Amino acid sequence: MPFEALGLDPKIAKAVREAGYTEPTPIQTKAIPLVLRGHDVIGIAQTGTGKTAAFVLPILQRLSTRGSSTNRRVMRALVIAPTRELVVQIEENVRKYARHLHLRIATVYGGVGERPQIQALRAGTEIIIATPGRLIDLMDQGHVDFSGLEVAVLDEADRMLDMGFLPAMRRIVKALPKQRQTMMFSATLSKEIETLTNEFLSNAEVVQIGRRANPAELVTQFVYETTKEAKLALLLHLLRDATLDSVLVFSRTKHGADKIARKLSSSGINTATLHSNRSQSQRIAALKAFKAGTVRVLVATDIAARGIDVEGISHVVNYDFPPQPEDYVHRIGRTGRAKAIGDAISFVTPDDRGNLRDLEHFISRGIPRKVAEGFDASAYKAAAPTMTSWRPSRPSRPAAVRPQRPNTYASSRPQSGSRPASGSRPPAGGNGRAAINSTPRFADRSRRRP
Ligand code: AMP
Repeated sequence: MPFEALGLDPKIAKAVREAGYTEPTPIQTKAIPLVLRGHDVIGIAQTGTGKTAAFVLPILQRLSTRGSSTNRRVMRALVIAPTRELVVQIEENVRKYARHLHLRIATVYGGVGERPQIQALRAGTEIIIATPGRLIDLMDQGHVDFSGLEVAVLDEADRMLDMGFLPAMRRIVKALPKQRQTMMFSATLSKEIETLTNEFLSNAEVVQIGRRANPAELVTQFVYETTKEAKLALLLHLLRDATLDSVLVFSRTKHGADKIARKLSSSGINTATLHSNRSQSQRIAALKAFKAGTVRVLVATDIAARGIDVEGISHVVNYDFPPQPEDYVHRIGRTGRAKAIGDAISFVTPDDRGNLRDLEHFISRGIPRKVAEGFDASAYKAAAPTMTSWRPSRPSRPAAVRPQRPNTYASSRPQSGSRPASGSRPPAGGNGRAAINSTPRFADRSRRRP
């Protein structure tokens, strides 16, 4: 179905085609007509589903027509997102889709100077994309005029709640005109999100894509059983495989991320970090370099990497296993996006056993264990335990087994004395790829960068 069929203006549909999209994603097909009809919408969808365009395109359509009551330039659309990185990413998308329209777009987030943001607000920029903290600061200083606002979006509302932004969200929404269209997006539909929907939206239509807690489709997941002491060496060992060409590594702490990055860099691997101790310009530079392919490994913490969209991430490595299953789902959603294929690798130490079990329960699947051939974990202090004793109690289908790539990293470089690959990825059988997500995906794109 072409984008025009959703009722979008030819100028917007043209920009979307130029962005390389051939047809709308499921969330776009469902949400865009509703938003164009003026409904409030609560969208339950992960990043990677095309949700940004699902709210941006109909907003552009509304804004490409003249303001209803006045000719003066005013803020007409506000998008709130939890992190600076996400704000910048949304802005990039808005600019891409609005390239044939004459609209002013600006961002508001902390860590950079206020002056240009104040100027943009005072000039009545039509679309503002903001983090809650800086927006509140500028509201308190009297620089924000919401009187002409027509539409508001709360993106990644679940994460904003996790980050303690509820009071800020309430203050912002309270300051908006009552007569407005509101959209809220969240990866999951929790009780808290339902409460917020009732508070911020009216007669909202629910658009839900995929089941709750669906890890991204097409992502092959597996676990390396290891010890804390052996993790760095294991990562270096895996990175000897050139197919890990664009790797997002998740560390639990900023300090840990720096340590990993130092080690990789000193081993000659181009590495950057993304966490909140880095300055805004460093974070933007790191992301840019990673997107451009000049940096092979990006080591990030959860909050910094949330919602990040980098085309062609080949692998996500959970260097530190996430305690919350939801975080796992978000992390692995960074790869395997838009029909790309990717691997999600998790390092699991004995301390992570309980969390792994919880996760397997959460996604209703077992994740295959794998042994890195040629890697001797016992050389790193405490030996890796044999994990046979803590396989998931319920035998379950392997997650997203993908037949088309070589079976293991190390198997392509056989080494003498390697351990048997008893925990390696199970052979593909039956339908070949046991998709773990029933969500339909969309337009074909290469997993490699252009
Ligand atoms: P999002 O879920 O908004 O983070 O989008 C994930 C990725 O999908 C981004 O790289 C978008 O550029 C891309 N995308 C969005 N809509 C489409 C579409 N209709 N066809 C192909 N790619 C899309």
